[in-house]
Amino acid sequence: MAALHDEGRYRVFADLERRAGSFPRAKRFVGEEAREVTVWCSNDYLGMGQHPAVIAAMHEALDKCGAGAGGTRNISGTNHYHVLLERELADLHGKEAALLFTSGYVSNWASLSTLGANIPGCVIISDEKNHASMIEGIRHSKAEKRIFKHNDPADLDRILAEYGPDRPKIVAFESVYSMDGDISPMRQIVEVAEKHGAMTYLDEVHAVGLYGERGGGIAEREGLMDRITLIEGTLGKAFGVVGGYITGSAALIDFVRSYASGFIFTTALPPHVAAGALASIRHLKASQMERMRQRDRVAKVRARLDAIGIPYLPNPSHIVPVMVGDAAKCKWLSD
Ligand code: PLP
Repeated sequence: MAALHDEGRYRVFADLERRAGSFPRAKRFVGEEAREVTVWCSNDYLGMGQHPAVIAAMHEALDKCGAGAGGTRNISGTNHYHVLLERELADLHGKEAALLFTSGYVSNWASLSTLGANIPGCVIISDEKNHASMIEGIRHSKAEKRIFKHNDPADLDRILAEYGPDRPKIVAFESVYSMDGDISPMRQIVEVAEKHGAMTYLDEVHAVGLYGERGGGIAEREGLMDRITLIEGTLGKAFGVVGGYITGSAALIDFVRSYASGFIFTTALPPHVAAGALASIRHLKASQMERMRQRDRVAKVRARLDAIGIPYLPNPSHIVPVMVGDAAKCKWLSD
């Protein structure tokens, strides 16, 4: 513990109470005191966690079905809301089927570990900046793992060329990388994977709801959804609720559904959570307003940061990594 403190890595959480209806305001508790703050760092990118349609759907399902799912998906935990939500997700990504998990982390961990462990001779080629959930899933699979340089299709090509056509290969990467906000060269990565007959595993966690005509992510925006083997996402960021999922061919989804311990042996998402996510996805499939407003707000934040001289990492996404150092200017951020 002392080492954690010394290294400045000891985590202290802000004790917040989010205020529905006045996004992104919250109450912050410090000791006996509570004060109003603006939350500048959030993954509820579009405020959907407080959207009236989402809240109404959750209230309705809660009154209808009660609090919990009642079991794992096998043991009477498959609620009709799960079935509807999986259909909606498959449609969002133009895939045959989808599978829900209790978080995006679990969906990556369970899916990659299941695929890597159960496809004989599988090698997983992973972008060096992939999320911890993907890294842990690959590690747990015990499959051979190779790392390609971040967002570098040429390095990926070089590594894939080392393996013959008979070797099963999975290229695992993300669309929007959350730490720097950069976006992968998806078309080139897909082309390289296709050239070598490799499957593609894409994490769209920071892009779903935000990009593409219906919020299907960067793959939708780039017209690449049908060329990607498996698309993974979360219900906990732009969709504003909680949960994770994968989408793909019916056979692939059936495979993960049948083998993934992280899916089989855990209580299903509460029905009202599935109902809220369903309402959120349906809304964002039809409405451009939230995406447009967010783009406008991001531009305004960048312009204000420029105006007062706070540096941030430039990137083509909605993520604004701010480099704070000057306490006086930091205060402006939390006012
Ligand atoms: N994948 C990426 C790239 C993430 O950044 C995160 C979370 O921050 C996850 C997966 C996990 O998603 P969830 O928060 O739904 O568990």
